[in-house]
Amino acid sequence: MFRRLRLTLFQPGYVRAQRALRQGECIRCGACCQLGWHCPRFHDGDGLPACRFYGRFRPPSCHNFPIDQRDIADRNLICPDQPCGYSWPDDGKPRPKAPR
Ligand code: SF4
Repeated sequence: MFRRLRLTLFQPGYVRAQRALRQGECIRCGACCQLGWHCPRFHDGDGLPACRFYGRFRPPSCHNFPIDQRDIADRNLICPDQPCGYSWPDDGKPRPKAPR
């Protein structure tokens, strides 16, 4: 979360470039809502993971998820059997250099 927040605030060009290349859509698996902590806004009472604040206010670190493959690797620790709905094309074109 802190890495994504830092990237969003201090390296917005990288985030924009990554989002422009990103493909797919969120399939609402809820894995990113449980990275490092169980977000209090997360609920899945009706069996479908959701954010109570979706459409009102979501922190940039949530709104921009996933920024890059490192985020995908992190969320795969939570939900290894179901891939994130987002991905990046493997077309051999150069990618923005991932910040540390
Ligand atoms: S991990 Fe990916 S598919 Fe799952 S809720 Fe987050 S953005 Fe959506």
